[in-house]
Amino acid sequence: MRIAWSDTRSSLACPDSGLGRSQTRLTGYVQESIINTRAKKPQAPATIGNLPPLGMDADSIVDDFRRYFSHTLGRDESTDTNPQMYTSLVLSLRDRLVERWRNTRLAYSEADCKRTYYLSLEFLMGRALGNAMLNLDIDPATATALRQMGIELEALADQEHDAGLGNGGLGRLAACFLDSCATLQLPVTGYGIRYEYGMFRQKIENGCQLEEPDHWLRDGNPWEIERPEFATRVKFGGHTEYFTEQHGRTFVRWMNTRDVMAMPHDVPVPGYQNGTVNTLRLWRAAATEEFDLSEFNAGSYTEAVASKNAAEHITMVLYPNDSSENGKELRLRQQYFLASASLQDILREWVKHQGNDFSRFAEKNCFQLNDTHPTCAVPELMRLLMDEHGMGWDDAWAITSKTMAYTNHTLLPEALEKWSVSMFGRLLPRLLEIICEINARYLSEVALRYPGDIERQRRMSIIEEGHEKQVRMAYLAVVASFSVNGVAALHSELLQEHLFRDFYELWPHKFNNKTNGVTPRRWLAWSNPELSKLISDAIGDDWCTDLSQLQKLKAHADKATFRKKWRAVKQANKARLAEMVQQDCGVTFDTNALFDVQVKRIHEYKRQLLNVLHVIHLYDRIKRGDTANWTPRCVLIGGKAAPGYMMAKRIIKLVNAVAKVINGDPATEGLLRLAFLPDYRVSAMEVISPGTDLSEQISTAGKEASGTGNMKFMMNGAMTIGTLDGANIEIREEAGAENFFLFGLTAQEVEATRHHYDPAAIIHADEDFKRVMGLLCSGNFNLFEPGIFDPIINSIYSPNDPWLTAADFRSFVDAQRRVDQAYKDQDAWTRMSIINTATSGKFSSDRTILDYNREVWHLPQIAPKQG
Ligand SMILES: *Cc1c(COP(=O)(O)O)cnc(C)c1O
Repeated sequence: MRIAWSDTRSSLACPDSGLGRSQTRLTGYVQESIINTRAKKPQAPATIGNLPPLGMDADSIVDDFRRYFSHTLGRDESTDTNPQMYTSLVLSLRDRLVERWRNTRLAYSEADCKRTYYLSLEFLMGRALGNAMLNLDIDPATATALRQMGIELEALADQEHDAGLGNGGLGRLAACFLDSCATLQLPVTGYGIRYEYGMFRQKIENGCQLEEPDHWLRDGNPWEIERPEFATRVKFGGHTEYFTEQHGRTFVRWMNTRDVMAMPHDVPVPGYQNGTVNTLRLWRAAATEEFDLSEFNAGSYTEAVASKNAAEHITMVLYPNDSSENGKELRLRQQYFLASASLQDILREWVKHQGNDFSRFAEKNCFQLNDTHPTCAVPELMRLLMDEHGMGWDDAWAITSKTMAYTNHTLLPEALEKWSVSMFGRLLPRLLEIICEINARYLSEVALRYPGDIERQRRMSIIEEGHEKQVRMAYLAVVASFSVNGVAALHSELLQEHLFRDFYELWPHKFNNKTNGVTPRRWLAWSNPELSKLISDAIGDDWCTDLSQLQKLKAHADKATFRKKWRAVKQANKARLAEMVQQDCGVTFDTNALFDVQVKRIHEYKRQLLNVLHVIHLYDRIKRGDTANWTPRCVLIGGKAAPGYMMAKRIIKLVNAVAKVINGDPATEGLLRLAFLPDYRVSAMEVISPGTDLSEQISTAGKEASGTGNMKFMMNGAMTIGTLDGANIEIREEAGAENFFLFGLTAQEVEATRHHYDPAAIIHADEDFKRVMGLLCSGNFNLFEPGIFDPIINSIYSPNDPWLTAADFRSFVDAQRRVDQAYKDQDAWTRMSIINTATSGKFSSDRTILDYNREVWHLPQIAPKQG
């Protein structure tokens, strides 16, 4: 399905220096375990390694591949061995990553520099093979090697399961950030959880979402390296006891705990053709050894096995809720497990080099919290410094409050994490004590600043009073962090004005904005090789690490020959997308039609419903013969609904129901198609964004913190139809208003409208809207399932509809009319497409990371020795 796998890419490749002169080398599963056992001695014998660097040519790859295939994996060609061939290829490439990994670690350690740790419950990495080949600049050699052996690269690449350890934008952001940090040669380590089951696989049956478990590790994960030598113990439950030393100092012991082991699995994160390989360390929960033993000795064999399972449950499954919290105890366990294991890991390294001297710790370490999910890191760092390293409160607080930085990802109240105090205290008694102490000290600061303002203290307390007391994790994060950022300009402003208003008044200096970005390596160079080649032919290939270079494309937008080539690339990418839609949806998309795409998590605030209303309106126009000057459209909608989110699942059902009627009606032939793409995921987006003409970014203004799908589409030359929400505002600023289809209320207007919102009146006054609702209400799309869309219809008619769907209908339909008109002039459309790509430079995650580094992290850029 991929077009010109190696040939278009090879021209992209920059000649690279002789990277990776490492002195030692780790290879394969078998050798690793040998090295691990020997490493238990104080120093591993230097003779284990000391190998010359591995060749980057096709012949060397062939040799390694064949050895892994026939010796390590013990296979021959007699059976279907695609999975083993895939593994052989990965292990061959991983060896080359491991060389650079070691050099990178060495360079960081020699520089003795400051480091940042990116703590996140989600890393939505997707597939790693293509990215590794691109970043190692070994893609052409690999293609040649496989060709020599008569193997199809594409077939092997399709063996790889997406690493779906995230829900959506937040998890994918973490993945893009890691890519940028490695490319910028910044000493940043990702810490996350190695979920046994990632994001569920979505099947569609009878138009409804079915969730299937994503056992992505079933066939093993050849990318990761387990590191039992760094296993860490994490405590749960028990109680605390206070002791007084001779000198009168009191200290606390957290006792009678139920401990769980945290086992690290390291995943290499290669930078773009620069010899750097950073680390993503993912923790797996395992039972402790003596935990097993004691129970076994007591004779309760089955109970022991069961509790072993209970320990391992912690990292069993990713919670599939995007933008909503569920308050489940297991989720809090996951959060603390990540925070504790990671901090202990970092402190162990510190103590190894600095002993118990923490005077420079804050200078040398920074923790970036990806949303409130890892906020247990705040009290946990306090606990470790005080209870494990003998520090007093003030010193520990000075370190904690100088090292924590918090990124907020949403204003939606349903997404703000709160934990019941009683559950928190049962599970993490020592942490709750510390949180209460942080709160007491901080509230006395508030009281000093605002004497007598009891209401403000109540408002700002980390502990929410009420029927059931709750820990407000966002407030804890703000209080402890030296930096608090939103993820787009509008979002950061709204944070200061609303959610964190009191905090902004108290500590304005903490607040800043970091507009999100996406990595141009995966989202342009890798996923769109033909466009990349066209761009590089026109402006050189520096854009891949300096996306602002794309500005140079503007000059080419005026050349007819360039526009023709640009259009041809888009056509080829549309053909690729159409093939996927045919395969996965059984719907035929004509590549001459406008490809109108909305892919993202299904959520009412993202308003897939508004999109469907427009499609129904188009269908209505066809049915009443209003098709003069028609622009044919193929509409694609995709995304997963949280399994417990009834309205989101009903919207999926609606899309499929409307699609069935439209696609089955001969009147729509050549004019309109609608398809729901099942199982939207990273590897699907790599095909979708290059083949899209129109990107739907239509959230209710003020609700989408940033969006990053919008950026992937823009980079690949799609036009955006969107509201003034999140990063859309900045996208429009960069592209120019004339290259963006704007509609809808502003965030301010949204809030003002709520008081007098009357959707029934809006519908009644709009002939088109009335007909659309007529079709919906008449059961036209649910003849055999009467009433199933009533909840959706009611939400549209409700004066309390938080998403104001009806308010933006007219404006949306009018903007879509302008899209239709614009698409008719293919030459003008292509020019706008080029301008969108040309002005997408700001939305590289490299820019975002440089902003974080300049204003928050202050890390040096360090290149590993190249031999
Ligand atoms: C980029 C991306 C997202 C985020 O999309 P938004 O439109 O910003 O919500 C979600 N899921 C996947 C698989 C992505 O690649």
